[in-house]
Amino acid sequence: MAEGVTDQTPKKEIKKCRSDFRFGQVLGEGSYSTVILAEEKTTKKEFAIKIIQKRHIMKERKTAHVMREKECLKRLNHPFFIKLYFTFQDEENLYFGLSVAKKGELLDCILAAKKFDFVTTRFYAGELVAALEHMHSINIIHRDLKPENVLLDDNYHIQITDFGTAKVIEDGDLSTTRTSSFVGTAQYVSPELLKEKQACKASDLWALGCIIHQMHCGKPPFQAQNEYLTFQLILKCQYEFPEVFHEDVKDIVERLIVIDPQARLGSSDQEGYPSLKSHIMFEGVDWENIANQPAPKIMASLQKISNGQQQTNIHELVDDFDHAMLIDATGTTESSKTSEDQLSSCDPSDTEGFGLSVNLPETEKQNWMEKQKSSKWHSFCKGKLILKRGMMEKKRGLSVKLRQFILTEGPRLIYVDPVSLQQKGEIPWSEKLSVELKTFRIFYVHTPNRTYHLIDKSNNAIKWCKKIQEVSRHYFGNSEKGNSSS
Ligand code: ATP
Repeated sequence: MAEGVTDQTPKKEIKKCRSDFRFGQVLGEGSYSTVILAEEKTTKKEFAIKIIQKRHIMKERKTAHVMREKECLKRLNHPFFIKLYFTFQDEENLYFGLSVAKKGELLDCILAAKKFDFVTTRFYAGELVAALEHMHSINIIHRDLKPENVLLDDNYHIQITDFGTAKVIEDGDLSTTRTSSFVGTAQYVSPELLKEKQACKASDLWALGCIIHQMHCGKPPFQAQNEYLTFQLILKCQYEFPEVFHEDVKDIVERLIVIDPQARLGSSDQEGYPSLKSHIMFEGVDWENIANQPAPKIMASLQKISNGQQQTNIHELVDDFDHAMLIDATGTTESSKTSEDQLSSCDPSDTEGFGLSVNLPETEKQNWMEKQKSSKWHSFCKGKLILKRGMMEKKRGLSVKLRQFILTEGPRLIYVDPVSLQQKGEIPWSEKLSVELKTFRIFYVHTPNRTYHLIDKSNNAIKWCKKIQEVSRHYFGNSEKGNSSS
């Protein structure tokens, strides 16, 4: 090449591969992926690597879901979104290298705080508005905005994630998108999606209203015993504010949670969301520097409560993860199986998989109960339905005992000697009970007086943690809850 002439040929991107990383803790598990903290060996940089089993997404016909997520993450370039740095694949898996959101989910902090004060609500509502402004300006509709999908970075700024159900509106498209099936989460889904199967940018504004309501009083506005009843409330726009609720927050919520999408605050704005940003609730917000503002001090203490002593730990690294771990995590999933499927396909007393939902309709519960009566574990349950059970090792000091753990309605978590069939104990359940996932096999159940160290040799620790959390939330609602992200 002649002197002074620089090579303009685009450099071929060198794809990373699994052996470039050391893997640490499981950060979380989704319905089709496992997210693991990893360190790049050469740069020592940390990433959250989302590992998606190809076989699983093909079986579940989720390829479009995964491609959509990748496409959206590639387009988004804003501090309030999880960043996709690289992707690679091998024969078995797809790998997404993401920024690490170390401080967990916004939901955990709301639950730990019980409710956010005005300043904290304003802080996160402001960040969400700024994030929506960017996302909608590049024609992405999220369609599943909820506090679980709002992660927090090191400085407690938001990092929106989960674009599997998002939609990119191509130029020239109407600003609505049709969807053939229900997308989203019952409590945050908009009426237009329920009635006309149509989602638009304003559907995210509806979800924003629901999240602001939840942040300021601890509960989402629409929450009933089951999804059907929740949908009825949404369609009637029937919700309430508690007596103590800041007037300005109430005003913005009332302007966002409006049946007609066109009438929602912000939906007629041509560029950005000036009408939202100028709402009285946001008086004093420095929109230009919003990503550099310090988060409310309370966040650090809340995150400690919700995560216990647990901190994301990169120091326990392995050069490779045990592939068997992923098979359980991304195998048959609870969300892909209806309870009818479960009823017809399993041994009724065998709920070792994800287990039964605590929200099953009464008739289904009765069906299960009838079948449970023939199980040898039924006699330990005091007439209550088994939600999940399975063999685990219980470690105390140097002693390790094999026990059958039985989680029932009530809630109760008892353990039985599988040989003598004698009940050996019960983990006392209260609103203070919490779980902490350590690895695929190991998790802790914390109670005020004791921590139970449990080992599930079939690598289902995640499923146990999720089920215990679900049951805890069902019975103790917004009280402190266990956190399985570690
Ligand atoms: P689903 O579609 O069921 O919501 P998914 O398979 O798309 O799930 P995610 O929701 O992306 O998976 O991730 C699963 C969990 O992993 C999240 O709930 C979160 O707790 C954790 N997680 C995901 N991405 C990150 C990240 N970048 N940093 C830290 N934790 C993460």
